Amino acid sequence: MPAPIRLQLPNERQVAPVNAYLFTKPEPALVDTGTNAAADRSALQAGLAANGLSVSDLKRVIITHAHVDHFGQAASIAANSSAEIWVSELAYEWLVDTPAMWQKRIAYYQNYFLPRTGLPQTMRETVLNFMAGSAKTAESVPRQRIKIYSMDATLEMGGLDWQVLHTPGHASHQTCYYQPETRQFLSSDMLLAVTPTPVVERPPTGNRHIPGLPRFLDSLDLVESLDIDIVYPGHGQPFSNYREVIARQRKRICQRKAACLAYVRQGCDTAVSLVQKMYADRPVTIQFAGLWMVIGYLDLLIADGRVSTQEIGGVIHYRAR
Ligand SMILES: [Zn+2]
Repeated sequence: MPAPIRLQLPNERQVAPVNAYLFTKPEPALVDTGTNAAADRSALQAGLAANGLSVSDLKRVIITHAHVDHFGQAASIAANSSAEIWVSELAYEWLVDTPAMWQKRIAYYQNYFLPRTGLPQTMRETVLNFMAGSAKTAESVPRQRIKIYSMDATLEMGGLDWQVLHTPGHASHQTCYYQPETRQFLSSDMLLAVTPTPVVERPPTGNRHIPGLPRFLDSLDLVESLDIDIVYPGHGQPFSNYREVIARQRKRICQRKAACLAYVRQGCDTAVSLVQKMYADRPVTIQFAGLWMVIGYLDLLIADGRVSTQEIGGVIHYRAR
């Protein structure tokens, strides 16, 4: 069975290593790339070399979603090979104009999202600096090198047809690839051993972000309905017990949502006060991810009609109903 070869890259800024997946035949193709940091570049070269290949041999690079640890090296691969860079229609803008997209996201966080969470100014600056640092780990890919795939496309990899699935939640443009005959699933950051954070994104219109965690739960339903033998995730080891993993994550989300509601009832009425309760004494990068999770739990509670919001003095306050 033509199976993807996992190349683990350090992804040092985000602590957790990231996976790229290599198909060697019928032509060398790579799913995701790691960041453009030196450590990821040399790890990719070493991974390719272990399979008798170099970057210049790559014919296609397929990007699952436009987060820097998944597409950061696409530009340098394009510069050092004749590879086509395949990206979904929803992630295309991020690849062709990476600095401008980052600038817009950072401005959204700075001017709208972070102030309304109640986060103190010094911590806001830490978050914005972290984002600015991440922005430097990916470059734009020249337009003429990009092939766009639609959200219901079929991609050929390893001589097999893989179905593209749109699975929003972690990112609104997240895609996964499913191979029905061999029951293989490239899950990217949609399905990991632990729940991925629902990243708050700048909305296409208006200021209110699109709720990520409710969409993630819908995507879990979709993945659960597939018949899968092996999951190749974007981070960590491949696994087969995906229905167990999904059940565990649903249960955990449900418990954390209930805990969040209990804290709101106790008077923790801003996102930042909830992060302090639910992610106490954790390093700032974990608290940043914790902020996204808290926003996710609040989005679920708002959708359930259990919590209402009111903006007071530029900060969103949550109230149990
Ligand atoms: Zn991601």
